[in-house]
Amino acid sequence: MRVLEVFDSLQGEGVWAGVAMTFVRLAGCNASDLRLACLAWCDTPQSWRRDGGTDTDISEIVEQVRQSGLGRVCLTGGEPLLQGESVESLVDALQHVGVLVHVETNGTLPLPDGLRPDWVTVSPKPPVHFIDDRLRGMVDELKVVVDQDFVAARVEMLAADHPSAAVCLQPEASRLAETGAVATATVMAHPGWRLSIQLHRVLGIA
Ligand code: SF4
Repeated sequence: MRVLEVFDSLQGEGVWAGVAMTFVRLAGCNASDLRLACLAWCDTPQSWRRDGGTDTDISEIVEQVRQSGLGRVCLTGGEPLLQGESVESLVDALQHVGVLVHVETNGTLPLPDGLRPDWVTVSPKPPVHFIDDRLRGMVDELKVVVDQDFVAARVEMLAADHPSAAVCLQPEASRLAETGAVATATVMAHPGWRLSIQLHRVLGIA
């Protein structure tokens, strides 16, 4: 599968912020095909090309994750589910050796039928924040970036569609003063939702 990078760090966002894990960043993103507005503030444009990174055997990735010894991995991108069948095999292989697997997706694609990650974060993107219906019942966390066009009512609808998901609002970093204020006010008005500040940016780590 096409892998951009494998590295150990703290999860910087959402419910698991501050927890050490190994990140596997897969190559390829469908945001430009779908004209998603996140192209304007994406912090990983190096992940967009589907032929980016290097062709890597699943066994090699598993070995790298095992050697890290952290026991928890986050599959991210880009949009990792573009490599659906390979992702399914990778998750199986990681879970087989006792590693807990998180998947972070933009929600535009379903999970492959047999894929059962230990944690699923869906970060739907503007302008419409579409989430594929086939993800209903499988979402552990909704992570929504608060940008200049943010509308809380849209997140309320998403939360209603995914009632068991934790809701995290994340201020868009390039306009933090403005988006942070909106995100904070929105969380205060929605008890149970939480603020997600990009911890890795604060700390200046990967
Ligand atoms: S979907 Fe994710 S990786 Fe792709 S452009 Fe948007 S923020 Fe970046």
